[in-house]
Amino acid sequence: MIALALHGGAGQYHGKDQSEKIAFLKTVCEKGQADLLSGKCSLDVVTECVMALEDSGHYVAGRGTGPNNLGEYELDASIMDGSTRRAGGVCALQGYRYPVRVARFVLEDTPHLLLAGKGAAHFAADKDCEPVTDPKAYYLVQGTTATPQDLDTGTVGAVALDQYGKLASATSTGGLMGKMAGRVGDSPILGAGCWADQNAAVSCTGQGEYFMKAAVAADVAARVKYLGESLNEATRAALADMGALGGYGGLIAVDRHGNVSTPYNSEGIRHAFACGDGAVTASAY
Ligand code: ASP
Repeated sequence: MIALALHGGAGQYHGKDQSEKIAFLKTVCEKGQADLLSGKCSLDVVTECVMALEDSGHYVAGRGTGPNNLGEYELDASIMDGSTRRAGGVCALQGYRYPVRVARFVLEDTPHLLLAGKGAAHFAADKDCEPVTDPKAYYLVQGTTATPQDLDTGTVGAVALDQYGKLASATSTGGLMGKMAGRVGDSPILGAGCWADQNAAVSCTGQGEYFMKAAVAADVAARVKYLGESLNEATRAALADMGALGGYGGLIAVDRHGNVSTPYNSEGIRHAFACGDGAVTASAY
């Protein structure tokens, strides 16, 4: 059994047509599903799916990131391997095209879990990661004149179960539009915006401060592990706990049986998922 779910952010759509973003998620999900069916491991598939989403410019991650209040582009990403709990993350990273790829190098090649700012950028350079040499040409959102409400929201994420029964999760974001310089959200924080263990893999999107206060991603896995809740019960309860604090957003999750859950308490969550060799489902709700 394999399973794969992707998201392109949960937030308010402000009346904007979501079809292009959903169609792209579907295409990436179909490719990831084929890769899992042909034997690729979940860690590689979530890395590659998130890289495709980052580079598309359709979401608030990678190329679609907006500048912070100083006009700089600071990006966060993380990745976690459920069977070993190996993980890597970067935060407030400037100047690199695929933050999730840098996070993957942190997982593979360092004794650390999270590198920030200049240190993360130096590390990315050492690993020959693809630089963004001209931010004005690369990033699609320029200037901070629009209010956050005028701009779309949209962290990206991927969770997968491979043929070997192993789970993995990855999350990447440009963060909240117009955020303060140096602000780091939930996406690179293990247990908040990203988590994978033997039971569940989770990637979150929404108001990061609330996802951190509720440790949403780890809460989902803990509920499955300690309370024996079904994946759907666990994701809904964890999201409700976050919502009770006043936050909104959504998440995608996969468990070791191949169940998928995509709940939200926002207007919707752009997502796509596949179970086994079944047709990919893609929707904004
Ligand atoms: N959770 C992200 C953050 O707070 C934003 C998002 O999901 O769009 O950085």
